[in-house]
Amino acid sequence: MSANATEYLQAAKDLREGIDRDWRMLIGGELTGSLSGERAAVFDPATGEQVTTIPRGDEADANRAIDAALAAFPAWAARAITDRAAHLHRLADAIEEAGEELAWIDTIDNGSPIAVMRGDYRIAVEHLRYFAGLALQLRGESIPVDQRDAVDFSVRAPFGVVGRIVPFNHPFMFAASRIAAPLLAGNTVVLKPAEATSLSALRLGEIAAGIFPPGVLNIVSGPGRTVGDTIVRHPEVRRLAFTGSGEVGRSIQAQAASASVKVVTLELGGKNPMIVFPDADFEEAIQGAIRGMNFAWQGQSCGSTSRLYVHRSIYRQFVEELGRRLDLMGMGDPLDEKTEVGPVVSRAQYEKVTSYFHSGIDDGLELIAGGLPDPAQPGNFIRPTLFAAENEQSRLFSEEIFGPVLVATCFDDYDEIIARANALPLGLTASVWTKDLATALKASRDIETGYVWVNWSSSHIPGASFGGVKDSGIGREEGLGELESFTQSKNIYIRF
Ligand code: NAD
Repeated sequence: MSANATEYLQAAKDLREGIDRDWRMLIGGELTGSLSGERAAVFDPATGEQVTTIPRGDEADANRAIDAALAAFPAWAARAITDRAAHLHRLADAIEEAGEELAWIDTIDNGSPIAVMRGDYRIAVEHLRYFAGLALQLRGESIPVDQRDAVDFSVRAPFGVVGRIVPFNHPFMFAASRIAAPLLAGNTVVLKPAEATSLSALRLGEIAAGIFPPGVLNIVSGPGRTVGDTIVRHPEVRRLAFTGSGEVGRSIQAQAASASVKVVTLELGGKNPMIVFPDADFEEAIQGAIRGMNFAWQGQSCGSTSRLYVHRSIYRQFVEELGRRLDLMGMGDPLDEKTEVGPVVSRAQYEKVTSYFHSGIDDGLELIAGGLPDPAQPGNFIRPTLFAAENEQSRLFSEEIFGPVLVATCFDDYDEIIARANALPLGLTASVWTKDLATALKASRDIETGYVWVNWSSSHIPGASFGGVKDSGIGREEGLGELESFTQSKNIYIRF
C-alpha cells in the first residue's frame, strides 16, 4: 500500500472516530439540543455500527424554530436583495472551505462513495452562487394602463417563513442548495433534514450560525411525524417545499390544506423509462443505462432511469452486455476512493430493496446481474442488480424501488413503447436513445415527464428546471422559476 493510501485510510479511521461529538440544531441563532434532551442514534451504513447521536427534536423544537423564523422575517426581508445575495456567497465560500469534511460526514452518514459526496457539496456551492447571481432578475412587471396619469406595476414579495423538508439521498446537497432560493427572495427558513442523514445539515447549521442573523435559517433534526408535521401544519408557514416520497408528499398536501391556505411544491419519486431505439449508439446507450441508474449512489435517486426498454432487435445483446458491466462495478468501503458502489442508507432501506428481489424471483424475472446479498454480511451492501423479462407483469416494473435494481424489457414499435412508458401515474424523467432527430423530438414531446434526456441520462443541467408531472410532483426547481416560486406577486396601481 502506498504512503498516500495508508495516510488516507488513517485519516478515514480518525474521522470515523471524530464523528462522535456534541451535534446540535440551529434555532434562533443558537446551537442547541432538543428541549426534551432526547437524542437519536446515528448508524454508519457501511458497518451497521452506531457512530454518534443527534438531537431528536419534536413539536416544541419545531415551534420555537418557526417562532424564531417569524421574528427574524421583517428585518431579513427589509435588507437589500444584493445584501441577501452576499450572505449566500459567504455561505458558499465557507462550504468550499469545509468541503472535504462535509463530504466525509455525508459518506459516513449516508453510505454513498466519497467521490459522490465531494460532488454533492460542489453542486450545493454552485446552486448558492447561481441563485445569488440571479438577485437582480427577481423582477415584477410594468402593465400598460389607459390613463396617462397612472402607472401599474407588480413587485415580488416573500411569503414569510418557508418550511423546507428534504430526503436522505443527497443530504448536504439538498440541505444547502434548497435554502438558497427562499432566503434570497427574502423569506426565513425552517429546514428539516431526513432522520437517517441529518449530520451534514447540522454541520451546515454550525457554519451558517456565523453568517446569517439569528432566526433567518433554522435547522431542526427529528422525526417527520413530529418535527415535519408541525412545520407542515403551522398556520403561519405559508410556503412549503418538500422533496421526498410520493406517499409523504400527498399527505403533506392534505395536512397543509387542513391548517391554512399554503403554497406547497412537491418533488417526489419516479419510475423513469429509458428507451433504446434500434438505431441508438449501442456503447453510448450501455453507458447511459449505467449512469442513468445512478448506481454511484446505489440507485437512490428520484431521477434514476429504472425501467429500461430496449428494442427487440438488440434486446438480448444489450441486457447481457449491461449485466456483464454491472458485475464489474467495485462495491466496498465508501470512504475508499476507488469504491464505485457503497451501501444503501439504512437497514430499513436494505429490507425494502431486498424485498423486491423476492418478488422478482417469484414473478419469474430473469436475474442477469447482482442478486440477493448475504444478510449476515455487515453493512447495507446490495450489488447493482439487473432483472429482465419480456413482459411487465411484476411490481418491479411499476414501483419505485429506490435502490440499485434495474428492470429491463423489450418493445417492438414506437406507439406501443410510448403508451407503455406513459402507463404509470408517475412522470419525473425519461431518457431516449436514437440517432434519428424526428424520433428524438417526437418521443421528447410524447413522453409524459418533467425532464427528458436524449442520448444522455442522470445529469441535471445547471439552470434547467427540474420537477415532475402527474404523481411525481408539482413545481419546478433549480432554475429562475424556483426563485420566483418563493415570492408572491403584488400589483400596485398609482394615480398621480
Ligand atoms: P420520505 O418521504 O420518507 O422523507 C422525506 C422527508 O420527509 C424526511 O425529512 C422525513 O423526515 C420527512 N417526513 C416524513 N414524514 C413526514 C410527515 N408526516 N410530515 C412532514 N415530513 C415528513 O423520503 P426519503 O425516503 O427520505 O427519500 C426518498 C424519496 O424521495 C424517494 O421517493 C425519491 O424519489 C424522493 N426524491 C425526490 C426528488 C425529486 O427531486 N423529485 C429528489 C430526491 C428524492
